[in-house]
Amino acid sequence: MDSSRLLDIFRTASGAREAGLCPQLPTQSGKAPKPSSPLHGMKSVIVGIFPYFCGAEEGEICLYARGRDYHSIIAPRLAAAAESLSAAFPGARFLPGCDASPLNEVRAAGYAGLGFFGDNGLFISRRYGSFVFLGTLATDLEFTAPTCEPEGCYHCGACRRACPTGVLSGGDKRAECLSAITQKKGELTAAEAALMRACHTVWGCDVCQLACPHNRGVEIDPLPEFREDRITHLPRSLRNASDAEWDAFLDGRAFAWRGREVLQRNLELVCFTKATENGILIRESEIKGDRK
Ligand code: SF4
Ligand code: SF4
Repeated sequence: MDSSRLLDIFRTASGAREAGLCPQLPTQSGKAPKPSSPLHGMKSVIVGIFPYFCGAEEGEICLYARGRDYHSIIAPRLAAAAESLSAAFPGARFLPGCDASPLNEVRAAGYAGLGFFGDNGLFISRRYGSFVFLGTLATDLEFTAPTCEPEGCYHCGACRRACPTGVLSGGDKRAECLSAITQKKGELTAAEAALMRACHTVWGCDVCQLACPHNRGVEIDPLPEFREDRITHLPRSLRNASDAEWDAFLDGRAFAWRGREVLQRNLELVCFTKATENGILIRESEIKGDRK
């Protein structure tokens, strides 16, 4: 098997900035795929790195979600790579995956020698830091390359100290990642609402990544699509927007899957709510009303 030719074809067709081979099939469950699984019969994984970092300008939306939805950008690139590889390696199968995959993409990327696992729970690329998306092609081709040791985290504790929730400190299981809190449906607890307001985020959290020394001085080379149509804030006009205006805004955004209600709640909470001296939250319209 000519693995360097295979990786060249993958990189050229997908635009991945880096690519590697994982000579095993790490699944989310840790078990071999069942016969009904699309991964059944697959032997290894081609992993591509797609950096998205375009700068860390101030904003209330986390960095990965500022451009267009990465699924819609990476999926066609992986499909093109699968097509090119199928033509170059007749009879072999190539199954694309990005994010919603039965594969453990983070492990596959580490075992492919593209980076390592940080104490913040994220994959960290040696060249691009943790601001990357992973795209994979599972294949029934077998490779003899050794599985790489994904080591490199300094275990310096910078991510843990910077984290506003304590979720990286282990012990307290009640702590929850702020990123997950911003995605929660329904009503938030007072503590969750206060945290979102204090961190001024309507979607996601980059604090542990921005604190990580592995993200300093990394190469900045995002796919061109990630530079387009970027937003750092939710438009304030959404507060009184119609259904059609919300639909138009959410179309193609990485957070669209969560639905309007969550975004609308977060907008109201973070951008239109203030705390009184005794900590009671009041909406801006009520504040204005008081001032009249
Ligand atoms: S901040 Fe330090 S401990 Fe945390 S992921 Fe980065 S290198 Fe590892
Ligand atoms: S994303 Fe934010 S809340 Fe979650 S672990 Fe990182 S710093 Fe903590």
